[in-house]
Amino acid sequence: MTAPRTEHRSGIVVVGTGGAGLCVALAAAEHGLHVDLIDKQDHIGGMLHIANGEFSGAGTRRQREHGIDDDPQRHFDDVWRLSHGKVDRELAWLTVRRQGEIVDWLDSLGFDFSPACPGLIHGHEVYSVPRTYWGRQNGLSVIRVLHERLRPLIADGRITLRLGTEATGLITERGQVTGVRVVPSATGETIELTAAAVVLATGGYDANRELRNRFLPEHLSSVLIGCLDHATGDGLVMAEDIGAAVSSDGVFLPIMGLIPDPSRPGHAVDYREAFIELAPAYRTPYEIWVNKRGERFVPEDTQSPEQRERELLRQPDATMHIIFDRAAAEAAPKPLINNPTSGWDQDRFLSACETSPWVTRAPDLETLADRLGIDADVLARTVGGYNDAVATGTDAAFGRSVLPSRLEQGPFYAITSVAASILSRDGLRVNTDLSVLDTAGNPIPGLHAVGEILGNNVFAGDNYVGGMSVTPAMTLGRLLGERLAETISDRSRS
Ligand SMILES: Cc1cc2nc3c(=O)[nH]c(=O)nc-3n(C[C@H](O)[C@H](O)[C@H](O)COP(=O)(O)OP(=O)(O)OC[C@H]3O[C@@H](n4cnc5c(N)ncnc54)[C@H](O)[C@@H]3O)c2cc1C
Repeated sequence: MTAPRTEHRSGIVVVGTGGAGLCVALAAAEHGLHVDLIDKQDHIGGMLHIANGEFSGAGTRRQREHGIDDDPQRHFDDVWRLSHGKVDRELAWLTVRRQGEIVDWLDSLGFDFSPACPGLIHGHEVYSVPRTYWGRQNGLSVIRVLHERLRPLIADGRITLRLGTEATGLITERGQVTGVRVVPSATGETIELTAAAVVLATGGYDANRELRNRFLPEHLSSVLIGCLDHATGDGLVMAEDIGAAVSSDGVFLPIMGLIPDPSRPGHAVDYREAFIELAPAYRTPYEIWVNKRGERFVPEDTQSPEQRERELLRQPDATMHIIFDRAAAEAAPKPLINNPTSGWDQDRFLSACETSPWVTRAPDLETLADRLGIDADVLARTVGGYNDAVATGTDAAFGRSVLPSRLEQGPFYAITSVAASILSRDGLRVNTDLSVLDTAGNPIPGLHAVGEILGNNVFAGDNYVGGMSVTPAMTLGRLLGERLAETISDRSRS
């Protein structure tokens, strides 16, 4: 076996080119530091390729233009409320107080904001004022604007971009991280890159079922994987190997509305292709949701995403079937299936009802129950109870107030949906310098981390909070890049 080749680099190595890694690299290079920017994939952007790319920030130019009175303290108060006071107070404030500046920075770079921004987003519990922003092309809009900024810095040699290059381990010397071992896929050789500091921005672990399940309650180990395949927790594992502390909060909240992919067991159908539109703010429900026993479990028109997410977790295998008949499918003003580019219309949905493998169909309710593996009597009682509620205008069982029509005439349909994980809740412990901490709580010299690798609980507690993954990744990424440029140049001057 040949010994690894060593390359001594003058600045820092950033591993990962998602929103976090790109923002570290840009800020560090803009402030005079050389950056080796590495990604195991052959393209930049990480999870932004699939993400809605919604980000949040207060006191922005766009809010002022819309007459929205807001400031970072109010944003933080909302984050605190929505997270049930469970965020890491210091780290959450570190990001929230600068997030408005990041929104304005993206604005200054020519970001293609959707005209609906700033808006309120109903996929998660809503903020008290509109302070969420997104691009016309969702996460791709973020990648585009950051890529434009990256290009000249690569051209003049301030950033060396190494795609198709996997980081496989950290190099340490007397307790200090001095570099990272990488393997370019083109050659397969191991290179030891030594540098003044290493930044891990490798994202989450949700695509690595074994690692993910280490952090999930045991009964939820079969929830679907709803993120892209690169999220294998590599940075977390590399850091843990050299003694880094990893949180284990036992928090999980699912993403709802993802469809099991029949061709990839355990995975959801790609969100960019299809998801089930559950938020009543976006689509009035004409269906009922039942669990594997055939019982309803939540008012389908609840305005609270958190309520439905927590209720789903209490159901067997965190699984639900959405039940409707042909008349409901035709009467609903919007299709039940959608995707982020609104690539579904009613005709496409009605045709999917007849042909798609995602839809279970039957001429009558009894056969549908049979095909779903549900007790037919229970399902008949559930549907009967719902039809009575429609007739009387009162849903005594669950308090649903939107009761458009009875489900009574075959053919009947069901779309099964299983709770999914899309972003990691636990991660590396860091201090407010974004230095990775060891299990004794001491910073590991030379090692920093930012982005989803920190775990989302730090910024969202035990809930989802609008934009509080993409925005901390970018905001703290920039902050870290600036600080590293400052401290490393100071060190080299003295
Ligand atoms: C469907 C979906 C929708 C979402 N919508 C939103 C939203 O609207 N708002 C929000 O705030 N959050 C959202 N999120 C979450 C958010 O997208 C991510 O948390 C965030 O983008 C993570 O950024 P990151 O830079 O930390 O990691 P990533 O974007 O995952 O980037 C990590 C990069 O590191 C690279 N990498 C990993 N391991 C190695 C290795 N060993 N060597 C070299 N490179 C490596 C990967 O290839 C990848 O490019 C969504 C997630 C999903 C799945």
